Amino acid sequence: MTIDLTSNTSNDSPVVCHRRQWLQWTTAMAVAAASSTGHTQEPSQTQATASEPEQPLEIWDSHVHLSGFAGTTPEARAELALQFADRMGIARLITFMGWPFLYTPTPEQIRQQNDQVLAALKFDPQRLLGYVYVNPQDVEGSLAELRRCLVDGPMVGVKLWVAERCSQTLLDPIIALATKHNAVIYQHTWIKTTGNLPGESTPADLVELARRHPQARLICGHSGGTWELGLRTIQSASSLMYEIAGADPTAGITERAVQELGAARVIFGSDAGGRSYATQLGKILGANITEEEKALILGGNIRRMLGLILQAKGLAS
Ligand SMILES: [Zn+2]
Repeated sequence: MTIDLTSNTSNDSPVVCHRRQWLQWTTAMAVAAASSTGHTQEPSQTQATASEPEQPLEIWDSHVHLSGFAGTTPEARAELALQFADRMGIARLITFMGWPFLYTPTPEQIRQQNDQVLAALKFDPQRLLGYVYVNPQDVEGSLAELRRCLVDGPMVGVKLWVAERCSQTLLDPIIALATKHNAVIYQHTWIKTTGNLPGESTPADLVELARRHPQARLICGHSGGTWELGLRTIQSASSLMYEIAGADPTAGITERAVQELGAARVIFGSDAGGRSYATQLGKILGANITEEEKALILGGNIRRMLGLILQAKGLAS
């Protein structure tokens, strides 16, 4: 199937398409996804009507790593990430952590990794956004890095991985500073049958953190790994967003998330290049939900979360 997103005559960007065009495209994608998963989809749910306004609609991937793309420099890796994103109609990528992946990086390694992301952002500031990676075992170092890359730099969020469980109070100054600047905070979460890493957070850890920081813009990463349990765990913590990156495109995950949380709390991310854009987009494009719900998940929600900080930095939102 060939998808030509470059035929839009009113916009220079090959990945910004108008609503009707996008809906036609997602119809094709959803049919393809449905035929491969056995899911059925009513045509009426994916077809534009004449009354719908012609508004630009963009897909934002909230979770991309340079480490998963080939190349010896951040610029080369970013170029490849964007090239593949173009094929899938993804307008903007949010990237965090450089390479190699390190569970408990030293202050110097943290700076190196954030420098890699900063170099990538410079390569294409229109399409790439970045979160600062910190190791909360080093609180002072984390705050310094947050000031360097986010308060005084172009980054718009914070990435927390597996160094320390996020329920620990030592994270509080980091969350407070990020929240003061309206930054998004992405926390990797997982519930592993085989047992988590010592510092690896579960969704329950994140609920605890959210209770201490009700104003924080927190994302529960990877839908908690075991997604049904993750969903149930964060359901009552209404400030928590549910991000569905980084697992196989299990049928039903998106529908259930929309049903239990509402579409306004669900976020698309791919975890590319560890995962492909296509399989992760399939979770949403093949879901039996409305086009308005898909639009929120594919871009609307993360754009809303980032709105204030993008505005403060003079970045397009
Ligand atoms: Zn990831």
